[in-house]
Amino acid sequence: MSQALLVINSGSSSVKFAAYDVETDKALTRIAHGRIEGIGSAPRLLVWGRSGEALEDRRIDIAADPALGADEGFRQLFDWLAQHAAGRTLLAVGHRVVHGGELFTRPAFVTPAILAQLDGFTPLAPLHQPHNLSAIHAIARLLPDLPQVACFDTEFHTMQDWVAQAYALPRHITGAGVKRYGFHGLSYEYIASILPGHLGATASGRVIVAHLGNGASLCAMQDRRSVASTMGFTALDGLMMGTRCGSLDPGVVLYLMGALGMTAQAVEKLLYEQSGLLGVSGVSGDMRTVEATDTPEARQAIDLYVYRIRQELGSLAASLGGLDALVFTAGIGENGAMIRRRVCQDAAWLGIELDGDANQASASGARCISTAGSRVAAWVMPTNEELMIARHTQTVLNSL
Ligand code: ADP
Repeated sequence: MSQALLVINSGSSSVKFAAYDVETDKALTRIAHGRIEGIGSAPRLLVWGRSGEALEDRRIDIAADPALGADEGFRQLFDWLAQHAAGRTLLAVGHRVVHGGELFTRPAFVTPAILAQLDGFTPLAPLHQPHNLSAIHAIARLLPDLPQVACFDTEFHTMQDWVAQAYALPRHITGAGVKRYGFHGLSYEYIASILPGHLGATASGRVIVAHLGNGASLCAMQDRRSVASTMGFTALDGLMMGTRCGSLDPGVVLYLMGALGMTAQAVEKLLYEQSGLLGVSGVSGDMRTVEATDTPEARQAIDLYVYRIRQELGSLAASLGGLDALVFTAGIGENGAMIRRRVCQDAAWLGIELDGDANQASASGARCISTAGSRVAAWVMPTNEELMIARHTQTVLNSL
């Protein structure tokens, strides 16, 4: 009988999922994907098939107990899979877990003890970790015997040199795990896996990948390993993001708390949820909306977004000692031609010569957007974190 794996990426108001067909010795094939959205308000289950055709759009009834939104969503998802999985046995669920701390340098088979350890990292990723873990809890309640695997966004960066990870703080602080972890590791690991197919020998060189989604970061790779990342101890550092501020003088936090009397919780909300594109534009944390807004604040928000990339690109190129290729990925990186154009123009000093037509072309899939004569290659490569999680989950299952 054929088998399937389910991948879950659980956020605050929505859960993204993908189901993969598992055939021995063959690549994993995605058979369906979808979302449970509107958790906490009016949840719905949406499912699309292999070719993107809509398979399901169902309201999830939680009138009797609104607090059960996510649990009821998962129950309906598993019911749907059981009815539509054409006799496939569900082998396991793989989860994206944002923070693995210093303890987890590889994907982990989830046990109650491991869940407790992962819970300890919640203060380090308050926007993501609780939702990642509550999905694992909900599925354990529904199907206690179904194996679950946690795959970490921090793992790809664990091989960085000490200097790339360290803060210049006293040893008793750094010794307690206060260091740069870096995030978006599953996305970077996927891109690293496809680099040779597109870049040939250059894949082993000095490559910077720009993951520009709602969260955003850059990763410097040498020989397809992470050498440096713009994200640090938390996913707040580095680039300006949808609602997160990115790099900030720590003195600002002291001022907010000391002089303005803000609580730690209020500062957390400000920096994670009210800053970035949203805070500067005053309209939205969504790049498409900001681009479509004709106000000086919206234009400045984009100027600052691009300027921060320009600065961090220089910083990561310095940590690599030069640059051979720049790769754009995630929502803005894959679709935002204007942002790519401005970033590449700013990076002309690094040796990037943009092919304007290739950049503007409405194409999907991996594509080169630099001229044939460009010393540094610029590419767009769609990321696939779900496939990376499915691969890891399969590997963990095979090792049991
Ligand atoms: P997440 O980090 O939640 O996975 P995505 O990778 O989907 O998010 O990225 C979402 C961002 O991508 C949003 O800011 C959205 O506006 C932006 N985006 C999507 N399509 C475009 C586009 N055509 N032009 C500019 N930005 C876009």
